[in-house]
Amino acid sequence: MQQKINLSKAVADNNYHFDDIHSPLTHKEALEEASRCLYCYNAPCITACPTHINIPDFIRKISTNNLQGSAQTILSENIFGGSCARVCPTEILCEHACVRNTHPESNPVKIGLLQRHAIDNIQGEYPFVRKSDTNKKIAVIGAGPAGISCAHKLAQLGHAIDIFEKESKIGGLNEYGIASYKLVNNYSELEINKILDIGNINIFTKKTLGDNLFLNDLLDRYHAVFIAIGLASARKLNIPGESLPNVLDATHFIHTIRQHQIQESLKGKSAIVIGGGNTAIDVAVQLKKLGAGKVTLAYRRGYQHMSATLKEQQLAQLHDVHKETWFNPIKIDQLTDKKLAVTFHIQTHEIPQETITLTADYVFKAIGQTLCTQSLFRQNQSTLSVHQRKIAVNDNYQTSIPSVFAGGDCIYKGQDLTVYAVQQGKEAAESIHSYIIGD
Ligand code: SF4
Repeated sequence: MQQKINLSKAVADNNYHFDDIHSPLTHKEALEEASRCLYCYNAPCITACPTHINIPDFIRKISTNNLQGSAQTILSENIFGGSCARVCPTEILCEHACVRNTHPESNPVKIGLLQRHAIDNIQGEYPFVRKSDTNKKIAVIGAGPAGISCAHKLAQLGHAIDIFEKESKIGGLNEYGIASYKLVNNYSELEINKILDIGNINIFTKKTLGDNLFLNDLLDRYHAVFIAIGLASARKLNIPGESLPNVLDATHFIHTIRQHQIQESLKGKSAIVIGGGNTAIDVAVQLKKLGAGKVTLAYRRGYQHMSATLKEQQLAQLHDVHKETWFNPIKIDQLTDKKLAVTFHIQTHEIPQETITLTADYVFKAIGQTLCTQSLFRQNQSTLSVHQRKIAVNDNYQTSIPSVFAGGDCIYKGQDLTVYAVQQGKEAAESIHSYIIGD
């Protein structure tokens, strides 16, 4: 069960107005940056982008002041081009592949910031039109990047879409799971409103698979179903003390911050964040931004094994997050009314099996998410095969039930990043289209 944040006293000094972590480029800066692109033949940046945006093409259009055309190039491959420009780890994707990295200055073209410049300056609606109606209906379960991307593509192809979302707001990870300083000023909602302008997409919120929404019913009412439910369950530490009151799930905490629901001041409070991924860094940095005192990131392996990118690790450093590596938690105790004590095994070869105890007001678990398979099989639902604890699909995103497709974090493909979810939604839409028109 998702543990509630036990912050009961209402106080007003949590500052939710996170500044944008990257300032946008001015138009003059964008023109200068665009001029650094070499417009490579067989550009490696395109291959490195999971959605295969024609990067040199959109950069060339910026350099000729054609921002509308530039945005169109981006959106035609990635309908979430605006949020991906903000949240993508470009340093391990397109910018990592940029040939400018091998030039003496060793400084890639700032592709992410250029992409943001083009999308932020688009005039009017997103430039898409729907084909004529096919009279086919598709149900999409989950209104995150994979679900919305799939729905948008299917709507373009002339189909009618109903999206079912378990939360009260749509957006999935972009709305509930990304650190506030990465998507500021309600960006997720604004972007999705523009995406939904294409029409023929209905949204139904507070619909949870296995609770008040069942696959069998959908199979009777729709020509196909696309499941994009993400990974809703936090992975457990499986150690004593895990269910103590102030031991919290990281993603739930981020969710709470993003919806401005924390009621107790975190000023001066200490915290231990257990994990080594981007979510762990997101939590640690947001705690610091909310005024927390000592925040320790404790990871069971070394820096080189962390899934958080180097840039994210540097961000944590910049915010004075204390880091401990080779710290493997073995138990959590309630030390006093307010304090928790976490005991770790220190796992280096030099110091085998020594233990150390750290104390803090809060402990955050950020060791990953898993698929809540219960929701898939509860109450008379048709059976879906599972592979490596995720929904099993073939190369066309088709599950073990022919009219049911799945994509995004709930399948075992690509990394758990927004940009992969968008691409999978897009590709799955093509497969669903072929399936329902009998191609
Ligand atoms: Fe431009 Fe770098 Fe891509 Fe080459 S690899 S096209 S220089 S952004």
